[in-house]
Amino acid sequence: MKSQDIRKQFLEFFKSKSHSIVPSAPMVIKDDPTLMFTNAGMNQFKEFFLGNSVPKSNRVTDTQKCLRVSGKHNDLEEVGHDTYHHTMFEMLGNWSFGDYFKEEAINWAWELLTEVYGINPENLYVSVFEGSEDNDKLGLDTEALELWKKIVPEERIIYGNKKDNFWEMGDQGPCGPCSEIHIDIRSEEEKAKVPGRELVNMDHPQVVEIWNLVFMQYNRKANGELEELPAKHIDTGMGFERLCMVLQDKKSNYDTDVFTPLLNEIEKITGIKYGKSEETNIAMRVIADHVRAVAFSIADGQLPSNTGAGYVIRRILRRAIRYGFTFLNTKEAFIYKLVPVLTEQMGASFPELKSQKSLMENVIREEEISFLRTLDQGLILLENLMKEAKDKTISGEKAFELYDTFGFPIDLTALILRENGFSLDEKGFEAELKKQKDRSRAATQVSAGDWVELNPVEEAAFIGYDQLEADVKIA
Ligand code: ATP
Ligand code: MG
Ligand code: MG
Ligand code: MG
Repeated sequence: MKSQDIRKQFLEFFKSKSHSIVPSAPMVIKDDPTLMFTNAGMNQFKEFFLGNSVPKSNRVTDTQKCLRVSGKHNDLEEVGHDTYHHTMFEMLGNWSFGDYFKEEAINWAWELLTEVYGINPENLYVSVFEGSEDNDKLGLDTEALELWKKIVPEERIIYGNKKDNFWEMGDQGPCGPCSEIHIDIRSEEEKAKVPGRELVNMDHPQVVEIWNLVFMQYNRKANGELEELPAKHIDTGMGFERLCMVLQDKKSNYDTDVFTPLLNEIEKITGIKYGKSEETNIAMRVIADHVRAVAFSIADGQLPSNTGAGYVIRRILRRAIRYGFTFLNTKEAFIYKLVPVLTEQMGASFPELKSQKSLMENVIREEEISFLRTLDQGLILLENLMKEAKDKTISGEKAFELYDTFGFPIDLTALILRENGFSLDEKGFEAELKKQKDRSRAATQVSAGDWVELNPVEEAAFIGYDQLEADVKIA
């Protein structure tokens, strides 16, 4: 089944259960001081759960563009190294605002996975909140347990702790237990060796969480106490790319049609086959992942810049450039060439990609050119440092200067030094870094001016582009 059809079937299924299909909220958030990027489907419905506003429909479903690179959910370091965490991903979800509760949420999730999508139920594990001994003195979620027992044999029900199976919005507000659904896609041979239930929540690439069903039934008061909510809510989130991996019978999200067109294009540009070595595989996955995060942000109006959300985006793009530069030998701008592939593939579901295509290409290309120049200059400086060095060590101060003044990434410095038989005074570098952090804490933060409103017309796109040029010069 194609990814487009998988997405459609999810939405159609919940539509058939009287849900309204709503559009994804922007991935870049501009009016919430507590959150830079949407990191879960529920973000856009926060005010409904808090009771501050009333939804038009009390059952909705959507696919939400999410980015998990900062704050509470930061998966950046995993991305590319594992095969199932992305920076940008789609979260499919269904919601009940004070309408249906656990019974429907559980039964429908099961019906969709096993009957509509046809997943073998024997490969699925579900978890329930086991309760906690701390101040809250919460008991086992017997309600969910009893509902699951009707459809899942007990050996595939896992009891989970507060960390995995209790969701809270923050220090205050709605919260409640959750049930996660995990899938075991290992070979029969592997399954015979270790039971799947032992691998749930163990970061195994083929025993992964696919869906989280949150049952919002409490309100945490300012004094920390919990009270039952008068109206209970359902909030669910399923990783779209992981679901595609399962339904397309693959062992990695990157082997699904969400990513293969991008990887094919990277192969074409670099002349390196995906699968050649673990090192090049990681680099290719990083680039295929990061171009999505960057392109979707730009399409949302967030350009790379030196502050706030723009800085996060710039760093993601630079990370992709760096992986290409170091492991795929790409010395010229090329990531922008992936934009047409992405647009072709996802433009039907996310029309903003189509209308902002040339902006995305131009911005990414300019960023690449500018950062590649930095890398070139840094390499020359580093070579000189090595020539001048008396013993085979580079001081923390010199490395910091390269990093701070020239924007040369420290891990690249370390790598190049290692390759040349040099060592880096890491302690010295850390000390310099700490000094700088202390300095900048003292300075006031400038964070305005990195948000541009975009209309889906070329003219607006050009305003954004000029703004970017200005930003690049500061870098
Ligand atoms: P994990 O434990 O795998 O990190 P999570 O518990 O942090 O996932 P939730 O916050 O419960 O994830 O989000 C709901 C669903 O979104 C998950 O069940 C998973 O399928 C998907 N998901 C979460 N993080 C990512 C990510 N970085 N990339 C792709 N899908 C993700
Ligand atoms: Mg996580
Ligand atoms: Mg989890
Ligand atoms: Mg979860």
